[in-house]
Amino acid sequence: MADAPAGVRPEVRRTLRRVPELVQAGLVPPEAEAALAAVAARYAIAVPPELAALIAPGDPADPIGRQILPDAEELAPAADEWADPIGDAVHAPVKGLVHRYPDRVLLLPTLVCAVYCRFCFRRERVGPGGAEGLTDAELAAALAYVRDRPAIREVVITGGDPLTLTPRRLGGIIAALDALSGVRVIRLHTRVPVAAPERIGPELLAALSCDKALFVALHANHPREFTPAATAAIRRLTGAGIAMLGQSVLLRGVNDDPATLEALMRAFVEVRIKPYYLHHLDPAPGTARFRTSIAHGQSLMRQLRGRVSGLCQPDYVLDIAGGFGKSPIGPGYLSAAGDTITDWRQRRHPLAGDGIERQRPS
Ligand SMILES: *Cc1c(COP(=O)(O)O)cnc(C)c1O
Ligand code: SF4
Repeated sequence: MADAPAGVRPEVRRTLRRVPELVQAGLVPPEAEAALAAVAARYAIAVPPELAALIAPGDPADPIGRQILPDAEELAPAADEWADPIGDAVHAPVKGLVHRYPDRVLLLPTLVCAVYCRFCFRRERVGPGGAEGLTDAELAAALAYVRDRPAIREVVITGGDPLTLTPRRLGGIIAALDALSGVRVIRLHTRVPVAAPERIGPELLAALSCDKALFVALHANHPREFTPAATAAIRRLTGAGIAMLGQSVLLRGVNDDPATLEALMRAFVEVRIKPYYLHHLDPAPGTARFRTSIAHGQSLMRQLRGRVSGLCQPDYVLDIAGGFGKSPIGPGYLSAAGDTITDWRQRRHPLAGDGIERQRPS
């Protein structure tokens, strides 16, 4: 960094995982090195080239940097934060599988990701060190659990990021699920198309090919993540006949203003991805700098409803701490008593219980 002129950063050519590398790349200031080394000892770091290139030099508030660069605050958790905020452990009947709802399960074959998001709700578990993926025997046990329960119609492959698996390993898992007659839908949750778009190649596409309805849910939080390379990777997925969904986390200082949230939802839809969920931030340790209030989230959702197409509207959801599952958190348009309804321009209309509006708006 010493020989680079101000405002110019050396190009990042491979994924950065160590604090000295981040300093050298000009992504964090040298004086922060010691404090960030302590963070790195506890939580995994991965800053891939595709995302590193998006971070504005010298801007500590950059919305991409904020998501993926470590911060000393991570080691100072607030009192109300939880190591397992959504209660995975409460509903894990076999290793690598979470069964909370009757008709669907999560399968976590790996805990490795292409990028480690600083706000991750599984941050105490994800990462390369110690947290290996499932062994063949453990995977077989998880698949047997699904096979023996015909009520399970959908398997959501997550982690970690399943698209970091080798095409061979992922292909084996997809083929095994494809062979289970009870499983009708396979879904994968990933950040790879924006974090490491080069991974979406012919071998990975072949691994995803199956007879079941296959959905890929892309996790992206800022419109800038839709780079030309990411957009091309998404086109390769949709071009292969894969249906895609968008999921985002509402993050203070990243996407919690009306213009950014609108641009993010439009960016999804313009590459043929249907926004599915906007997650309210889960209280994982050391994530207070990303927190917003539910009232603020509802206000943003109201503004989104008033400004953009229904295609761009995700469900705003909260995963109830302790393992109780996700619930939509509004905003509601029907009054609590059910006798008025609000329109997209925030005007209220009287309403009878049968849903018929009996008066003109005042
Ligand atoms: C989020 C989640 C799912 C998927 O829920 P959808 O609302 O169908 O997206 C399934 N199982 C568990 C344990 C989950 O946390
Ligand atoms: S990609 Fe997903 S699982 Fe991995 S760190 Fe980010 S939020 Fe967590």
